[in-house]
Amino acid sequence: MKAVSNNSKTKKWVYDFSEGNKEMKNLLGGKGANLAEMASLKLPVPNGFIITTETCAYYSENKKWPSDLEKQIQLHLTKLEKEMGKKLGDPKDPLLVSVRSGAASSMPGMMDTILNLGLNDKTVVTLANKTKNERFAYDSYRRFIQMFGDVVLEVPHKHFEEILTKAKLNKKVKFDTDLTSNDLQKIIVEYKAIVKKHTKKEFPQDPKDQLYEAINAVFKSWNNDRAIVYRQLNNIKGLLGTAVNIQAMVFGNKGDNSGTGVCFSRNPSTGENKLYGELLFNAQGEDVVAGIRTPLPITDLQKRMPKVYNEFVAIYKKLEKHYKDMLDMEFTIEDGKLYMLQVRVGKRTAKAAVQIAVDMVSEKLISKEEALLRIEPNSLNQLLHKTIDPKARVKAKVIVRGLPASPGAVYGTIVFDAKEAVDAAEEGKKVILVRTETSPEDIKGMHSAQGILTARGGMTSHAAVVARGMGKCCVAGCSDILVDEYDKKMIIKGKTYTDKDTITLDGATGEVFEGRLDVVDPELSGAFKTIMTWADGIRRLKVRTNADTPKDAEVAVKFGAEGIGLCRTEHMFFEGDRIKAVREMILSSNLEGRQKALAKLLPMQRGDFIGLFKAMGNKPVTIRLLDPPLHEFLPKEDTDIVELSREMKIPVAELKRKIDDLFEFNPMLGHRGCRLGITFPEITEMQTRAIIEAAIEVNKKGQKVIPEIMIPLVGKTKELTLQKEVVFKTIEKVLKEKKAKLDFLFGTMIEIPRAALTADEIAKEAEFFSFGTNDLTQMTLGLSRDDAGKFLPQYVDLDIYNRDPFVTIDQEGVGMIMKIAIEKGRKVKPKLKMGICGEHGGDPESVKFCHRIGLDYVSCSPFRVPIARLAAAQAVIEKKK
Ligand code: PEP
Ligand code: MG
Repeated sequence: MKAVSNNSKTKKWVYDFSEGNKEMKNLLGGKGANLAEMASLKLPVPNGFIITTETCAYYSENKKWPSDLEKQIQLHLTKLEKEMGKKLGDPKDPLLVSVRSGAASSMPGMMDTILNLGLNDKTVVTLANKTKNERFAYDSYRRFIQMFGDVVLEVPHKHFEEILTKAKLNKKVKFDTDLTSNDLQKIIVEYKAIVKKHTKKEFPQDPKDQLYEAINAVFKSWNNDRAIVYRQLNNIKGLLGTAVNIQAMVFGNKGDNSGTGVCFSRNPSTGENKLYGELLFNAQGEDVVAGIRTPLPITDLQKRMPKVYNEFVAIYKKLEKHYKDMLDMEFTIEDGKLYMLQVRVGKRTAKAAVQIAVDMVSEKLISKEEALLRIEPNSLNQLLHKTIDPKARVKAKVIVRGLPASPGAVYGTIVFDAKEAVDAAEEGKKVILVRTETSPEDIKGMHSAQGILTARGGMTSHAAVVARGMGKCCVAGCSDILVDEYDKKMIIKGKTYTDKDTITLDGATGEVFEGRLDVVDPELSGAFKTIMTWADGIRRLKVRTNADTPKDAEVAVKFGAEGIGLCRTEHMFFEGDRIKAVREMILSSNLEGRQKALAKLLPMQRGDFIGLFKAMGNKPVTIRLLDPPLHEFLPKEDTDIVELSREMKIPVAELKRKIDDLFEFNPMLGHRGCRLGITFPEITEMQTRAIIEAAIEVNKKGQKVIPEIMIPLVGKTKELTLQKEVVFKTIEKVLKEKKAKLDFLFGTMIEIPRAALTADEIAKEAEFFSFGTNDLTQMTLGLSRDDAGKFLPQYVDLDIYNRDPFVTIDQEGVGMIMKIAIEKGRKVKPKLKMGICGEHGGDPESVKFCHRIGLDYVSCSPFRVPIARLAAAQAVIEKKK
């Protein structure tokens, strides 16, 4: 966090709405900046002012207010009182305000809101008299004590809920709105008693005290656990803190002519260009988001208050044109008058993001480039989500239906508790988190679960909003489910399900199925295809895939892969019976024995390569020769060793000795990569032969494959020249035998820092470089790629590395080494083809970096190909800007 000094007495800590605009999010928070923007558009926004994020940072650091803050708040409060013609705490005509948090990035539900501030035992009476609505006044006071008690005074929320539930049970009513003024007054007495019991003090009656304490609570909420977890999960860093928005209250709970709602200007789940929202009559904002009463569709407003509805439609259309984006809005209607309380660019699923971006281009609101920048590449993952296999669906039994809150099809065992979800996921189990409703405390569990099912809440409930943000499948508001979290069961139409049962969710339809259903891969068409075509038209980087099987290769081609950048041949060695031949080769004590075993492997490898070449058509295929240390192919458990000894007819003791001989303290730095090919050239020979014979065979059938043979883990040029000799000799021999001609490329991975630093020498022997950034990161940072996970998260939290360097390239270190290698390599061979095939090849930030440093291609796992295509296009657009 940046330190904020209070060195200047004239520092401005507080801004009026009229002093801000939407570009000032860092200082005023998203909510404040957008309220200011709406005010400048002359939309009906209740007046107010904003305490800046810098003030929060100052408070977090110094545990006190800047010396000038109180004076500035007072000045703005007086102005607000003048504008509203009411005064805070005035027993004759009290001003009531809301106090809301709002950071530069939206953090839904993570921090707290306090409404109706300014009410006390006296002003509540005035409010009742002035509005001639006693019920409304006491309902507002009841809510205020509850929110203030919970958020500021830290009285556990459940105590208030217990009192409220008891009151409703006594009266035999279902909703808060069924409670009378008398009931509410009794509740208030009980609420105040609970506050006194917990805080040993009376509920504060002075509105100034209330205001100052509420401001501090908002500041503190910036560092509460759930806000910290949310920022970690969403990688939100570098923000100063939250702003505090203080705004004159308007009331949606004044009666049936009042209400409050949340709307998206387009459907946040599908992107459909249609107003999408929910509202509750006679309610305050918290009722809609809390999901306690199930809200009504926005069309009900059209039926009940057509004038207000039309006014809202005009406003949202104006706002959409102004922001040129899909918006998320909150409004309140007080006695038939509409007020806008919030606007922000709406969170959406990837499906919606893509649809909206494409639609807005055809509506001439934005350009294609802007459309491409609007989509977060990683979010495309959601579009690649599975759906339920139509064949499985036919026979499946829908046990209940809820709202389709976030797409995807998932199955798992039921868990009723977020902590259990986390534990189960750590054990590798697939679980579905089932809750009556979720709260911000559940966020870790939601992250760990495959999907989320809730009994209450609408499309804008906490579960729905958070799941969409995470790209998790979610079915919300399933009112036919009775969830008993305590006894770990849910009852659906008389049938009980426990934490032993498995269910399947379809987040796109809202259906819940009994048992586990088969799921299928997605189709890539419509707006998604359009976006991909636009991206392909703009990007310079080629996108290849890392694939070892024809099936992976086919998926990748469907996703737009333009070649294979890395085929890890060792993966083929584990398939079926081959492992036996591999073990025979490893355990042979002489060349003859190894050659015999390799001869068994040859036809299998050749078959693999034929399959791969066929799947890729004429696209380039880079095949890497054997890389991992040999002991990885041998058994570890005693029972397996005994079995192998029987199979291979080697005594157990001798086998164990051979396995022990292969043991290495640092296998990653040991006998692997080209070092294997140098000590056992027959392996290189067999693999080269398999590649060349396969290419000749498919080319005979009319294909034009140009195989690219790649040597791993080269550090010294001599290693490459020795392997080159073997490869070239073998190729010559095979071509002679087969009387064939074939173009091929010979290249190397650059994954040892020494190779990068001497790339000019290495380039003389290679026709292409492929950066193996997994090993290059491991070796440059001295971090074991297998073990660093134990402490790396802490390193990232402490900002030692601001991102996990195995996910996003460490640009200053590893990136610098790559730049050196590119420069040196191209000095020797200006046209040297260069790419990357480490995991970073599918990470958007790393892809953009690869573009900037001038690589020719990135190669990534099949499901990341569309992500890389989009990121590569964004890299071009961002560079232009
Ligand atoms: C790499 O090191 O980046 C690489 C692609 O090879 P592997 O992950 O197989 O070591
Ligand atoms: Mg490697």
